[in-house]
Amino acid sequence: MEFLNFGCCNLSTLLICSGVAVLGLAAFRYFAVIGRSCTSKRRLDGKVAIVTGANTGIGKETALDLAKRGARVILACRDEKKGREAVSYVKEGSGSENVVLKKLDLASLASIRTFSSEILDEEDRIDILINNAGVMLTPYCLTEDGFEMQFGTNHLGHFLLTNLLLDKIKESAPSRIVTVSSVGHYFGSLDFNDMMWSKHYGSQKSYFRSKLANVMFARELGKRLEGTGVTTYSLHPGSINTELGRHLVAGWKAIFKPILYPISWLLAKTPTQGAQTTLHCAVSEEAEGITGKYWSNCSIAKPNKLALIDEDCKKLWEYSEQQVNL
Ligand code: NDP
Repeated sequence: MEFLNFGCCNLSTLLICSGVAVLGLAAFRYFAVIGRSCTSKRRLDGKVAIVTGANTGIGKETALDLAKRGARVILACRDEKKGREAVSYVKEGSGSENVVLKKLDLASLASIRTFSSEILDEEDRIDILINNAGVMLTPYCLTEDGFEMQFGTNHLGHFLLTNLLLDKIKESAPSRIVTVSSVGHYFGSLDFNDMMWSKHYGSQKSYFRSKLANVMFARELGKRLEGTGVTTYSLHPGSINTELGRHLVAGWKAIFKPILYPISWLLAKTPTQGAQTTLHCAVSEEAEGITGKYWSNCSIAKPNKLALIDEDCKKLWEYSEQQVNL
């Protein structure tokens, strides 16, 4: 009998502890992982928004939300088949027919120039540009124009794209340019003597550098656009379950899959949750008129102090201009 009582006591203690643990984990996930959402109800009827890398992940959910708000949304994607599927997804989810696909490969200056000139010909206005596309941890490889892939795609591609579209974005003011960076930018650094890692390539270091460049670009762009009514933003979207890890070595993925799944369930956002800070910067009343800042969890955050060195932001701008022949 004593044994049973002891067992009951153990069982109830175990149940209570498990309940507390589950509630604790749920609270942790809700407050620390998912965080704030974009609460703005602003409509975008008559406005035009461009989202790069919109065929999957955060970009696709960002496009869906903008379409639900009534914007004409241009999905700028490199893969036309995936792009067409995403257009159907956004149309079905939003009930809007004003959703179009445009081919854009940010790893090709020629593709960026073709995309931009078509957009300038076809669109009357550009109210929101979202520089979302990105690659992470690629093995050492080069873009069509010989740039290291991560720096070339994540930073230089968006740098050229934004500059080519800038006059129309200014004409459409008040307008916003949002660049998706990463918390990884805190680990980034610049070396103007070897920006493309011709020596000692490290895939992580290169990703971090490209994301630091995103923050510096948004800051410098904000300064250059002061008084025009165009505001700029860079941001960390959180940790999100997307296809971004596609370049992780297959062996590592296989080994860690069994533990990664529950960990990512606990620690990662869904793509819809991951789109919230981008949307907050792109549409919210709270972010209106604020320019050049780095955002995280729908709030202004302090970036890597390297991103606050004005001289280096200007130097990066001039270096990028030379690279893309602007
Ligand atoms: P995904 O890999 O799911 O989506 C990335 C998108 O970028 C895809 O549409 C991809 O197209 C596109 N893309 C890649 N290269 C090019 C190119 N050369 N030209 C045009 N499009 C291209 O990742 P996420 O949605 O997670 O990433 C979106 C952004 O968020 C990235 O900038 C990333 O750095 C950032 N981020 C993501 C985090 C996360 O936890 N997921 C954390 C911090 C930042 P395709 O499908 O054809 O490859």
